[in-house]
Amino acid sequence: MHGKEVLARHAFADVLGANIVAAQQLNTDLFGTFSGEIPRTASPRSTALAKARRGMELEQTHYGLASEGTFSTGFGTIVENIEVLVFVDDILGLELVEGSIIISPLLAGRTVRHLNDALHYATAIGFPEQRVILQTGHNGVATSFKNIDDRETLLSIGEKVFREANDSVSIMPDYRAHHCPSRAAVIRTLCEQMAHRLATECPLCLTPGFGQVDVEYGVPCESCGTATNIIAADIHGCGKCTYRTRVARSVKRASPQWCNFCNP
Ligand SMILES: [Zn+2]
Ligand SMILES: [Zn+2]
Repeated sequence: MHGKEVLARHAFADVLGANIVAAQQLNTDLFGTFSGEIPRTASPRSTALAKARRGMELEQTHYGLASEGTFSTGFGTIVENIEVLVFVDDILGLELVEGSIIISPLLAGRTVRHLNDALHYATAIGFPEQRVILQTGHNGVATSFKNIDDRETLLSIGEKVFREANDSVSIMPDYRAHHCPSRAAVIRTLCEQMAHRLATECPLCLTPGFGQVDVEYGVPCESCGTATNIIAADIHGCGKCTYRTRVARSVKRASPQWCNFCNP
């Protein structure tokens, strides 16, 4: 629904010679929406898996690829973006996962009191390439205005929304991949990682899809030697057998600021 097949197409063609087709009858909004009309109850990983499985059923394929993302505001205005991409291979029995956690370059959504504030916000996050969603609340029920694709539409919908708003008006980025260039870039990178992962065989059983499955924490504090929560190594694994390798990261000593003993 959001053109994500385009984000995977090049990497899968170049690295694997594989063709990506979007499942036509798949309504991915049923798995949850960013603007909250349909809450997403499962984790990003299980949601992505469910999407891939549903697409495979509809298209009668043995292979499925799907992504899922979340945006959450932790401290202040920082927005954390988690993206997960899963690949399912029903012939080999594989469920492979690529993921990333980044600080989104987009400003968090906010309540606005005037149309001008909404326009400033939209400009600040790169509208119209980055789309926005206006939301009004009335007796606790939110109504979303999406598909605002140019300034004129933003002005006319904004005027109407501010005129009729009983509670408050908020504006937020449209996080759907086809309306969010920064998120599309993250998903494209995960698709590249997945294509390369699928081109990598397990050294032991030769199943494709060998790649990072875990990390190992515990870089020692440079002051006292206590293990910190800084990542010391990546753990690569096979989707089929139990073979794993440890790939140490370059950092060997952690600053005491990350040490629970020196900086509790
Ligand atoms: Zn220490
Ligand atoms: Zn293996």
